[in-house]
Amino acid sequence: AKDTKLLELRHLKKVFGGLIAVNDVTFAVPAGRIVGLIGPNGAGKSTTFNLATGVLTPTSGEVCFCDEALKTISPQEMARLGVGRSFQHPEIMTDMSVVENVMLGAHLRGHAGAVKAMLGLDRKEELVLHAIAWRMLQRTGLEKVALSPAGTLSLGQLRLLEVARALALDPLIVLLDEPAAGLRVCEKRELARLLRELRQEGVAVLMVEHDMDFVMSLADHLIVLDFGNQIAEGDANGIRSNPRVLDAYLGG
Ligand code: ADP
Ligand code: MG
Repeated sequence: AKDTKLLELRHLKKVFGGLIAVNDVTFAVPAGRIVGLIGPNGAGKSTTFNLATGVLTPTSGEVCFCDEALKTISPQEMARLGVGRSFQHPEIMTDMSVVENVMLGAHLRGHAGAVKAMLGLDRKEELVLHAIAWRMLQRTGLEKVALSPAGTLSLGQLRLLEVARALALDPLIVLLDEPAAGLRVCEKRELARLLRELRQEGVAVLMVEHDMDFVMSLADHLIVLDFGNQIAEGDANGIRSNPRVLDAYLGG
């Protein structure tokens, strides 16, 4: 259903030593919605993202996927829950071809359950993974470099490869950390088209993004953090004209 909360953060708090990096952050990412997480440097965006993806453990509060509280952080567990993610610093196998990198992503899904169980033969499995990977490369506009070593890609292409690999899991939700960073204008347009397509298919998207034009033009809902506090949320128009947000960005 459209209103299923695929990801829900409940009263998340993270303290580093004496510093409260994230304080009482509470929001949900429903199916078929793009939610943008924004805020000035040091606001707590990356910390929130790392809490949501199980990289960090909250001091208090909960992270739930489909109403299930997140406890483990293994890639298999994330895949089982239908969570795909990209990393701010892409973890790509540079010696492997682009399509092989995406097959690695698809392979995790196999381990997670259904696909692997259905397939008896390794060769057959490989063919299926190959087909999934090619489809994802088409969707991200990378099919022309599919056979190149991933190490030869531009930064923008690497980011798209990360997205392709996350999508190979057939996720219910994707978490993207600054997906537009380093992308050229045409690559940004390609990524925006893809994210809209995913939304149309009912996938939920949470993205941390510095590129305001990019995130404002895409997000259905924006969450604004400042000094760890959730100072505003709403659609792009409301956020653009919100005095607390303007204050935060102008360093008030
Ligand atoms: P953003 O991504 O919005 O720029 P961060 O989540 O990276 O902000 O950081 C929020 C605050 O927490 C900052 O003051 C930062 O210095 C601090 N912080 C982040 N990670 C750590 C850490 N591992 N140890 C100590 N302080 C941290
Ligand atoms: Mg950050």
